[in-house]
Amino acid sequence: MSRKGWCPGALRPMPAGDGLLLRLRPRGSMLSADQLAGLAELAARYGSGAIDLGSRAALQLRGVTTAALPDLHQALADLALLDSDPAAEARRNIITTPLWQAGDATADLITLLEDCLQHAPDLPPKFGFALDTGSAACLQLASADLRIEQSDVGLILRPDGSPMGQIFQPGDLPELLRKLLHWFVKTDCPRMALALRNGHAPPLRQDAPPRPQPAMADLLRASGLLFAPFGAASSQAFRELGGQSLRLTPWRAVRPDSPPPGTRHWLQNPDDARLRVDACPGAPHCSAASVTTRDLAVRLASLVPPGRRLHLSGCAKGCARATPADVTLTGRDGHFDLILQGRAGDAPAQTCLAPHTLAAATGGHFAPPV
Ligand code: SF4
Repeated sequence: MSRKGWCPGALRPMPAGDGLLLRLRPRGSMLSADQLAGLAELAARYGSGAIDLGSRAALQLRGVTTAALPDLHQALADLALLDSDPAAEARRNIITTPLWQAGDATADLITLLEDCLQHAPDLPPKFGFALDTGSAACLQLASADLRIEQSDVGLILRPDGSPMGQIFQPGDLPELLRKLLHWFVKTDCPRMALALRNGHAPPLRQDAPPRPQPAMADLLRASGLLFAPFGAASSQAFRELGGQSLRLTPWRAVRPDSPPPGTRHWLQNPDDARLRVDACPGAPHCSAASVTTRDLAVRLASLVPPGRRLHLSGCAKGCARATPADVTLTGRDGHFDLILQGRAGDAPAQTCLAPHTLAAATGGHFAPPV
């Protein structure tokens, strides 16, 4: 079971208001057709049927009972969706570009990086890797501590927070990573960018910057993605995409081999107003929440203009969004605090707002100036 401060995994489930939550990190941020079908079946059989899409291309099964856990673990292992032990699972925190193409370096680098991580020192819980080696750069805004990227002159290994990385050949990666990870552990920092801000100098050359990344809005439009509002998908939504493999992304969206012409469960328009809102599961799914969130998020979404963000959080922890939003509504004792240009937990501009007053309280902050 999980304890405070741990990141949940499949082997370290986290108790939530609706049962155990299992976080899965499919290899290569991808599900094969068999894994996709199997996972939809397991979510419905052993859990509530909910499958959350996380911001690190992970999946979460919800509503699992303790009694069902052994059978679920066996079924996940049969689908090659379970690591050998909790430590290996925690270390394998890798986001892989959904823009990889057959024959590029990505598949070999996944295997190489996973092999290297088997011998890595203990890393902080959120320490992660981004493999951004597809047809275009797309993961530069995704949370990661070490980035493997294409530059104009070859592959680079770039610590998060540094504008440049060291050019490397794949055969050099194990030794580079060994030195870098042991150096990082000695900094005693939880994240790479913080280590760099604190003046620690990584043992890497600064040879080249990564490729420039296209504008995010253009990437999302051009990538054939299907979005789950608030990251909330389900076994039915996964079944709708059956018979093909699925790439997982850090944008709470999936990229099927061939997007269906129409869909009942997914949003195909990246400009849908619901995608401007971050909302955690809230009550009754999370025991820390005293308010519902996603029903309110649907109601308030139309107030949020393009380019702006609303964050609805069941409590001050702010699981759904780590960075500031234009407006954040944080639940407390059945009411909401309203924070402007901040994160959940920051000092509120208004407190104790009843749920039925939120449209008026929120809409004013998104209205165009008169
Ligand atoms: S932000 Fe609070 S209420 Fe929402 S999921 Fe996290 S802990 Fe639960």
